[in-house]
Amino acid sequence: STPVAIFCALTKAAISGLLVKGGDYIETLSGIQTVAFDKTGTITRGEFTVTDFSVVVDDTSIESLLYWVSCIESKSSHPMAAALVEYGMSNSTKPIPEYVENFQNFPGEGVFGTIDGKDIYIGNRRIGARAGCERVDCQFQSNEISTRKQHCRPTLVGVFSLADTCRSGALEAIEELKLLGVRSVMLTGDSAQVAMYVQSQLNHALDIVHAELLPADKALIIQNFKKDGLTAMIGDGMNDAPALATADIGISMGISGSALANETGNAILMSNDIRKIPEMIRVARKTTRKLI
Ligand code: ADP
Ligand code: MG
Repeated sequence: STPVAIFCALTKAAISGLLVKGGDYIETLSGIQTVAFDKTGTITRGEFTVTDFSVVVDDTSIESLLYWVSCIESKSSHPMAAALVEYGMSNSTKPIPEYVENFQNFPGEGVFGTIDGKDIYIGNRRIGARAGCERVDCQFQSNEISTRKQHCRPTLVGVFSLADTCRSGALEAIEELKLLGVRSVMLTGDSAQVAMYVQSQLNHALDIVHAELLPADKALIIQNFKKDGLTAMIGDGMNDAPALATADIGISMGISGSALANETGNAILMSNDIRKIPEMIRVARKTTRKLI
């Protein structure tokens, strides 16, 4: 049976927008030492805009490149994909997902598809390496598109830049956690450069930042934090489901989060307001104190 105090805490959490799946997690919350946040969609809004787009080879038109990209990305549910499709639309490019063959999603890397007889990879440097692209170590830090025609060497054909912004309550949440003696960590599959930019936007308040992680790396890092004490992971389920499942408490973002995250998570943050996390740790601490 659930003690009254725990029941009250669960209700309080639910009213403030955090659905906790069971009283045991109130106790977990009260003892949390580390809170790990996913970047995209958790610390940031996950609403990207394309700020720059360029073709880097002469024999490809910007129109066909935009068309290939929007067709392939229309098959992905990543927030970046939505921005690229949107960008195509605003440039009169209508995606036709049915024209894409062999579509593949590489979590934490990007996507692949065959269109107009071309094998196309879209994503970060990892996907460039996967495509066998030679220029992956070049000056480009942003997202890249490479094509590989059959029997030809792969080439980098385009580069696009995407921008996302921090959620308004992100800094407050981290500062509040600090007051509670809880360390804040950011885990991201994005580049170190982008990760450090986000950290600077947060006045360097994050205690630890890890970038260029694959979904399995995020889970491994959580495993390590758990050695130091109870660890919470907050994410949107997009490439962080294994980390959510590994944490002592996995909290999934309710709005725009994937259904997978809601199933994996031990709690759902309905409002997407991450300031509720320190608030609930405070409530949980009061509750458990009442019990002893
Ligand atoms: P985060 O850990 O910040 O939530 P993800 O793990 O979801 O980020 O993605 C990591 C990186 O993989 C992105 O920054 C992007 O470079 C690349 N990526 C993932 N999915 C796509 C996609 N559909 N199109 C282009 N790039 C992608
Ligand atoms: Mg993510």
